[in-house]
Amino acid sequence: MLKVAVIGAGVSGLSVASLLGAAGHKVHVFEKSQKISELGAGIQISPNGFCVLKKLGVAEDTIDNSVCNNSILICDYYKGKKLLQFDQSSSLGNKHFRLMHRADLIKILYQSALSNKVIFNLGYAADAQSLSSQYSFVIAADGVHSKTRALLNPIQNTNRKTNYFAWRTIVPIKNTHHNGVRLTVAPNKHIVSYPIRGRDQLNLVLIQEAENNEIFEWGMTESPEEIKYIFSEFGGDMKETLESITTVHKWGLSSHDIPVNWTGGNIFLIGDALHPMLPFLAQGANSALEDAFVLTKLMSFLDVSEAADKYLEIRKPRLVRLMKQIKNNAWKFHLEHSFIRACTHSGLRFLDKSFPQSASLPFRWLYNYDVTKLNI
Ligand SMILES: Cc1cc2nc3c(=O)[nH]c(=O)nc-3n(C[C@H](O)[C@H](O)[C@H](O)COP(=O)(O)OP(=O)(O)OC[C@H]3O[C@@H](n4cnc5c(N)ncnc54)[C@H](O)[C@@H]3O)c2cc1C
Repeated sequence: MLKVAVIGAGVSGLSVASLLGAAGHKVHVFEKSQKISELGAGIQISPNGFCVLKKLGVAEDTIDNSVCNNSILICDYYKGKKLLQFDQSSSLGNKHFRLMHRADLIKILYQSALSNKVIFNLGYAADAQSLSSQYSFVIAADGVHSKTRALLNPIQNTNRKTNYFAWRTIVPIKNTHHNGVRLTVAPNKHIVSYPIRGRDQLNLVLIQEAENNEIFEWGMTESPEEIKYIFSEFGGDMKETLESITTVHKWGLSSHDIPVNWTGGNIFLIGDALHPMLPFLAQGANSALEDAFVLTKLMSFLDVSEAADKYLEIRKPRLVRLMKQIKNNAWKFHLEHSFIRACTHSGLRFLDKSFPQSASLPFRWLYNYDVTKLNI
């Protein structure tokens, strides 16, 4: 039995803590906030993340608290016209792709950790270095602005500003929204919308490409009027949806190259602390669940230095490929040049009429991966 400290109680910290607790280790979580909570927003849990939730024994709870992502719909912003729609359920078979409220996911993971005897220290800003002498392993799940990542990578320690802003809000749903993820694309902007909580609510993620001279902390309050103004060219039913926004939060998005040092002594990085990524493939939390599963296995069977080498060997190729695809999406979603846009949209309409399912092919490597079946 190992004694493990986990810094941070987001998706990464809670999932790794619960998995380690279930494996019989003694786990202490340190969270700087006074309570475990999440801002009101949705989250997509794709099959590669869901299989870890299943291993944790919370699959049923997750399904009960989420909506199935039946199909992906891509629309143009101007009149909201469809460009391409493809069926998710037929391309994923019996795999689960769920849409849910973050607070519900956090609650499920927290309950799971408590039932696996994890001990929580809330209101405690922890320092990885000072914990490292008291524990067999220290897992730093301290998020996008991780102090531990900076400690392990003193040269490569700052986040890169990305010139993307994200706003997140939840509004009452209109019946016109289909049962799945809709991506509405515009020059330099896009909106991702999907139903959550029994289809009673619609989650909106609004992204704009614009110069960002500061890196903001997560979740600043924004005026609804400002967001309606920035996205005022969006037509179709999205116009009405935007009108119904009453509260909204803003993020100045930042990213970080995958750091050179993932570990230092017995300190291991995980989740956004290790790989903060732009939300253009909805994979930050899903990747964190994968990390959590791999780390739990490695820590249970290997010593510190073997676990560190194996962690990099298993996770790096997949994360590098993911980051590349995200970069590609950032470009494709926001096409500005009218000729390139027109050609791309004609291509999408053609695909929609002829082979809509082929649009799911570029995601197969991502969603069909089941980390729980790896031979670790
Ligand atoms: C607009 C947007 C949409 C997204 N949509 C999706 C999606 O649909 N699907 C998906 O998979 N991902 C999505 N993501 C990414 C996802 O939200 C993150 O990758 C994920 O929440 C990261 O979880 P984490 O636990 O690593 O970090 P966090 O959730 O940031 O948790 C870090 C925790 O550590 C605590 N902490 C920090 N320092 C200390 C310290 N010194 N001591 C103690 N505690 C500390 C913090 O208080 C916090 O609770 C999205 C991101 C954005 C911005």
